[in-house]
Amino acid sequence: MMIDAHVHIEFGEYTPAYIEKMIERACECGVTEIWVLDHTHKFVEFKPVYEIIRADAFNRAWYDRKRPIPLSEFLDFAAAIRKNQYPVTVKFGLEVCYFEEKEAQLREILSRYDFDFLIGSVHFIDGFGFDLSRENWEGKDVDHLYRRYYEITESLIKSKLFTSLGHPDAIKLFEKYPDYELTGTYRRIASLLKEYGMATENNSGLVRYGFPYPGLSPDFLRILKAEGVTIHRASDAHKIEDIGRLFERLEI
Ligand SMILES: [Zn+2]
Ligand SMILES: [Zn+2]
Repeated sequence: MMIDAHVHIEFGEYTPAYIEKMIERACECGVTEIWVLDHTHKFVEFKPVYEIIRADAFNRAWYDRKRPIPLSEFLDFAAAIRKNQYPVTVKFGLEVCYFEEKEAQLREILSRYDFDFLIGSVHFIDGFGFDLSRENWEGKDVDHLYRRYYEITESLIKSKLFTSLGHPDAIKLFEKYPDYELTGTYRRIASLLKEYGMATENNSGLVRYGFPYPGLSPDFLRILKAEGVTIHRASDAHKIEDIGRLFERLEI
């Protein structure tokens, strides 16, 4: 079995024809199960959660480009696909932007729905969208951002809202690294994931944004494996051709 545990529809269509193209690509690269999702920022139901980042003009411009749609469109699509038989197993979930301050609201919204999986991801550190622009890192306190990124990640895990932690070291995207050793942090995250029975992913997606190698930092991967955390391969595909991308280089 080969799972791609993070495949966005994003710019694709919620149609059987689109899923069939995804399955065709999965078959070509030996993937036997795809976890189909979209970001919560794509759906109107989650709009109140993003109020917290809209205070900032850069974030507001980013969010306002999203033009959210009703979640029912995704749910109806999932229900229709579930009725069909395919040579590849198809699961449906969401990639949820986690905000500590909005945890109660997220819990209330998510309690209304039943998904196969829920990936919790940190995309914002106290309002800073760390993967949105390299320039926005200028003058930032990198050590502080790493500390807060992993504090927020700890809160995410302890919330028990999610089945899996998304791209757990995505903060490295622009190759900014702290002056302090991350080994202790990786150990703490790994032991929490194990304690809370949560999986995580070895995600090749950053390479598409220019990061030099696919997946987790070797140190983090080694620690997660030693702790016995379940790790899934994940392409974070936003286009069909990226499904299963670089899986031959992702150890789990
Ligand atoms: Zn993400
Ligand atoms: Zn994603």
